[in-house]
Amino acid sequence: MSRSTIASSEDGLGPTGRKLLDTPALNKSTAFTEDERERFRLRGLLPPTVSTQEVQEIRVIENLRRKGSDIERYIFLMALLLRNERLFFRTVMDHLDETLPIIYTPTVGQACLEYAHINREAPLGLYVSAADRGRIREILSNWPEEDVRVIVLTDGERILGLGDLGANGMGIPVGKLALYTACAGIPPRQCLPVMLDVGTNNQSLLNDPLYLGLRQARLTGDAYDEVVEELVLAVQDAYPRALIQFEDFLTPTAYRLLNRYRDRVLCFNDDIQGTAAVALAGVLASTRISGLSFEDLRVMFLGAGSAATGIADLMVTALVEEGLSPAEARERIWLVDIDGLVVRSRAAIPEHNRPYARDHRSLDFLEAMREAEPHVLIGATGQRGTFTQEAIETLASIHDRPTVFALSNPTWKAECTPEQAYAWSGGRAIFASGSPFPPVSFEGKTYRPGQGNNVYVFPGVGLAALACGAERVVEEMFLAAARSLASMVDQSDLEVGAVYPPLSRIRKISLAIATSVVQRAQERGLASSPLSGDIGKAIAAMMYDPSY
Ligand code: NAD
Repeated sequence: MSRSTIASSEDGLGPTGRKLLDTPALNKSTAFTEDERERFRLRGLLPPTVSTQEVQEIRVIENLRRKGSDIERYIFLMALLLRNERLFFRTVMDHLDETLPIIYTPTVGQACLEYAHINREAPLGLYVSAADRGRIREILSNWPEEDVRVIVLTDGERILGLGDLGANGMGIPVGKLALYTACAGIPPRQCLPVMLDVGTNNQSLLNDPLYLGLRQARLTGDAYDEVVEELVLAVQDAYPRALIQFEDFLTPTAYRLLNRYRDRVLCFNDDIQGTAAVALAGVLASTRISGLSFEDLRVMFLGAGSAATGIADLMVTALVEEGLSPAEARERIWLVDIDGLVVRSRAAIPEHNRPYARDHRSLDFLEAMREAEPHVLIGATGQRGTFTQEAIETLASIHDRPTVFALSNPTWKAECTPEQAYAWSGGRAIFASGSPFPPVSFEGKTYRPGQGNNVYVFPGVGLAALACGAERVVEEMFLAAARSLASMVDQSDLEVGAVYPPLSRIRKISLAIATSVVQRAQERGLASSPLSGDIGKAIAAMMYDPSY
């Protein structure tokens, strides 16, 4: 327990006895010392032996492993978060490989599907609904914390690869903010998960008697935009320094909101910009294996949605920083979607695809690949198997060390598996995926495929925004994040084919990213409380430590 907490309890200002045990941020349960048990009137409310946090952690892990399914593990961990926050974060941080797939993808997806059926003791985030129009500011003031600094906001319309899950989408902001704390040390009380419930078009949810969201079709058009605007203004009023992370919106909505708010408020969209930084970092690291220079790469995307164009846009920013003109930079990018190469002669081209539409006759994927001869192939289709044997063999016939990223989630939707990429390229592909794959053996060599998980980037960017009081999040900050992440990939990672560092190093990675993002924000004059001296040290001192 921190000194200030103990002092406030002693002063009679903080909770004691049963109330203290029911306050997740203060509760240490069996780890309260003899002295604390006396002072806080806990004697008799706890078994006699005092545990250390380490022993409590062993108990948590033992119970976690005893559960029969991942969804039960999720329920167990969320209940722990509501009971003893520091023990939850200590355990998650010390067992990230084991807990990340439970508190986040893939289990969180299952949890969202079943959200209304999972018995919850108390809500973990704030619900703002279309029925609250006109009084959203008042709703925000019901949240018990005053110094909120990071908000993750979703409207539940495109939850992971699972579509419209309405108010069940709350699991996403809750999970992402848990990662902000676990991976970048943002204090939990400064995090606010928000579910904006504008209805759902998912009929099975509307028919489910246990569903907890608004029972109406989704708001659209002006009505939708007005609710979002009221919410954003209310956030600015209630928490003027808070960063808003837009999460799991449908692609056209995601771009519309990002374009409307990126120059007005401190915000970013993780599906577009976070993905971009992670993928770019992987591509930068891949050049250390291929020996090619980044400025010379030709990059082809299969899938031209928000993930692909987010990455393409950040690559253009990076290439322009290397001295290319925007037109030259865009020339390096080839977008292919379900209808083939994105060309200007098409009847309708979504706005985010327009900068990349080429003056070219229509080509299918393989024809486009033969024409472009890309060094890097990035899949973001949401469709498994779209990198066929012929596609990978074609790529491998053009280049010695082709880079292949199969980013679609979850695991079973990947455009190809690492085994396929290695087998079809004779072990020459530099492979990464969006979801985790176990190590692969091919012709006597063991590869560790890198996972381009957004968790590498967004916590560090959020930490940076908080640390220097950033006023805006600009593209260059994601570029700084990407370069920083790429620099954290070391020779031992590259030797096993991994273009990402192991997730076990995440706290160090987040700190390094936050440091370079703060530097970039300060150079751009975007920091309202700039840091001086050793920036890394100053940021590290701000990071939440869940130890008692
Ligand atoms: P989206 O719906 O906006 O775009 C999908 C695109 O794929 C569209 O352009 C569509 O035309 C194209 N497409 C669909 N089927 C195709 C096919 N058979 N051949 C060629 N193109 C096809 O989706 P999005 O938000 O861009 O996400 C796409 C995928 O990327 C999802 O599976 C998501 O899980 C994944 N993703 C991964 C990461 C990551 O790994 N860090 C981050 C974000 C998104």
